[in-house]
Amino acid sequence: MKEIVLALITGTTLLLLAPFICACDKQDTKVSEQTSTVIQGKTMGTFYAVNVVGGYKGGEEALRNLAEGEFARITAEISTFDKEAELYRFNDFHSTEPFKISKELSLIIQNTVYQGRRIDDATDITVGPLVNLWGFGKDKKNSAAPTQEQINERLQIVGFDKFELRTNENEAYLIKKDPNVRLDLATVGEGLGADAVAAKLAIEGYKNFMVNVAGASRSYGTNAKGKKWRLGIEDPTSPQRRVFVPICALDKAVTTAGSYRNYFKDEKSGRIYSHAIDPRTGYPVSHQTMSVTVISDSAFESDALDTGLLVLGADKALDWGRKNGYAVATIENNDGKPLFRYTDEFKKYLDCATQQDNQKK
Ligand code: ADP
Ligand code: MG
Repeated sequence: MKEIVLALITGTTLLLLAPFICACDKQDTKVSEQTSTVIQGKTMGTFYAVNVVGGYKGGEEALRNLAEGEFARITAEISTFDKEAELYRFNDFHSTEPFKISKELSLIIQNTVYQGRRIDDATDITVGPLVNLWGFGKDKKNSAAPTQEQINERLQIVGFDKFELRTNENEAYLIKKDPNVRLDLATVGEGLGADAVAAKLAIEGYKNFMVNVAGASRSYGTNAKGKKWRLGIEDPTSPQRRVFVPICALDKAVTTAGSYRNYFKDEKSGRIYSHAIDPRTGYPVSHQTMSVTVISDSAFESDALDTGLLVLGADKALDWGRKNGYAVATIENNDGKPLFRYTDEFKKYLDCATQQDNQKK
């Protein structure tokens, strides 16, 4: 079995991140393989991979241009690291005057807020000041946890009521209620990227492909051996990048958020702080839930939900999935061993992979 596990490095923080999900391709020598165009590269401080079965017209270079063109368009809207990006410029705008933004950015904000509201505001794009305070943003990496006072101060400018999005037919404006408000859309960047590249490939008529942007994946049809695409959810309790459980993607968008790779260690206490921040307390996630996987029709939607569901923890995440008919799976750290739980909707993705494995035997 050959498993392609993508190693991810955050360009901005130089921390080693997990892919959480990987493309897993079972080798089967009896089945003849189609040629594919496969590319890998870096974007949004992480890695991406695209695989077009049957080959992409124009080959690797053209496919790279397509993918990186889409990523550049998204980054120019939502990056909080790139000084030229719209969101960066808004964050840097220390004023409560209206700030004109593009329709594209306003839609991303509107839709991310909508997803956050569905899950008790646990995905909250106003966490920007806390993300920076904890050292996961554009400010320098921390070696010590912030004080309660600092956290309380930042909490005052966190919440959906701390900014306003004003739109009319042609224009959109963002308005800060406090000049220090900062928005953070990092949580949906990977999903937006995967959706955008998948949409382009679909429009161009490709039927069998997979797009992975770190923990977000979109795929259609079958792999080079004519089999349904597989992904592996990573074992968050293992120091090695080990696949914990394989699933079939079944033409859906799969994303995983994890609390266990992108973190910093407080040198004094030795405590580890994850980059997923609970907007209610101002603290990074510290419960036993290590990863949450969400499957839906859109990688953007799954990606907007997974971080918030991770913040809520496995029990609430699974409850929410059951009530709303979503495929949600969680991995908890149960005394150092992974505890895997999932909603009924998730079962078919697991069963498909088991079936594939049984056919090989
Ligand atoms: P993962 O790498 O686990 O998939 P993402 O990259 O999707 O996570 O999102 C994590 C990023 O989202 C953080 O680095 C931070 O910028 C931002 N973030 C952290 N907590 C929240 C939250 N509660 N709501 C929205 N965004 C958050
Ligand atoms: Mg996310």
